[in-house]
Amino acid sequence: MVVVGSYVVDLMSRTPHMPKPGETVLGGPFQMGPGGKGGNQAVAASRQGASVTMITKVGQDLFGEEAIKNFEQESIQTTYITKDEHEATGAALIAVDQHSENMIVVSLGACGNLTSEDVQQAREAFINADIILVQLETSIEAVEATINLANELGKPVVLNPAPFQDVRAEVLKKVTYITPNETEASLLTGITVHDEKTAKEAAINLFNAGIPNVIITLGKKGCYIYDGSDQGRLIEGFTVDAVDTTGAGDAFNGGFTTFIASGLSINEAAKRANAVAALSVTKVGTSPAMPTQKEVEHFLE
Ligand code: ADP
Repeated sequence: MVVVGSYVVDLMSRTPHMPKPGETVLGGPFQMGPGGKGGNQAVAASRQGASVTMITKVGQDLFGEEAIKNFEQESIQTTYITKDEHEATGAALIAVDQHSENMIVVSLGACGNLTSEDVQQAREAFINADIILVQLETSIEAVEATINLANELGKPVVLNPAPFQDVRAEVLKKVTYITPNETEASLLTGITVHDEKTAKEAAINLFNAGIPNVIITLGKKGCYIYDGSDQGRLIEGFTVDAVDTTGAGDAFNGGFTTFIASGLSINEAAKRANAVAALSVTKVGTSPAMPTQKEVEHFLE
């Protein structure tokens, strides 16, 4: 699998209250960890047994070195991670208060500068991959180059349209699987998605726009699938004690893409992806909270 997308370092501080403009608050504890939708999804996939090559860009700095070390520890291929000469490694500044409310500033830094040349340079990795996974947390230029190269080589491509950015209709048509959450599905279609009925309407809308497999994630409710083979269906989520739902979508996408590539049906892949995502919300953090293949198998026994 090739994952094209973002890497940012998450810098998290607890705070007794959110600072007002101009205020300095004494907070703590502080925690640092790998993040970014691309990186998180690559880790989720690798932990489910996929052989993953990551394509992103970091800065020529300590955080960039850490990123590469972390991907290597996760058995992710880093040959095509490039270093930007000017921009720093991306970072997310996260403050979490006593009520678990958060405020986040994400600076994409180097990974926001991913170019179509960076993607094309990884042609060999695309040729060797069974499936391609991409999000919208990088430049649209890199996203389009990814989808076009996947098409040229006849590889299936999963687009997780997060965070929402406008993608041209003719590019969307080249996608094999699209996996928006409720907010993204609403922005893509103009239909407010909040339940199974509205998810079905939005899914049919995206299917009619030329995407053959539509999977709308619905938080703890699970996900809705429409692939034209029947009337569409809800694949129910799993009930767990959720402690931190950030990264649930990333867990779902990494898992789903792995399971589709391994030959599972779309229903079975979505069910297992619901399990990966459910387990991820039982732990704090994004990448570090991704479950292993063993944990998922045990959970489904
Ligand atoms: P995002 O994290 O992108 O907003 P969702 O909230 O739709 O995406 O969650 C993605 C997937 O994570 C869902 O389809 C579901 O499988 C799982 N999930 C999310 N929240 C929960 C929860 N509270 N309990 C169990 N599973 C959850």
